[in-house]
Amino acid sequence: MSFFNQKKKSPVWIQKTHYLKADEFICSACGFKAKKAFRTCPGCKAQISKVKYEASWVDEAEFVDMMFDD
Ligand SMILES: [Zn+2]
Repeated sequence: MSFFNQKKKSPVWIQKTHYLKADEFICSACGFKAKKAFRTCPGCKAQISKVKYEASWVDEAEFVDMMFDD
């Protein structure tokens, strides 16, 4: 678990890309959900300069396939 062993963990925006919805940016420090990657988190006022991409749309795309498959 080397990810958790960093000396100083600075917060990042976790970018969630959705298949049908607009992208979401989630603050790793407080979990605030934003429409864009602000320099300062509106939730916890942390300075955030990094965006970590998380492809969550893959599962949603499969779900959409199921919905339209008849
Ligand atoms: Zn925050």
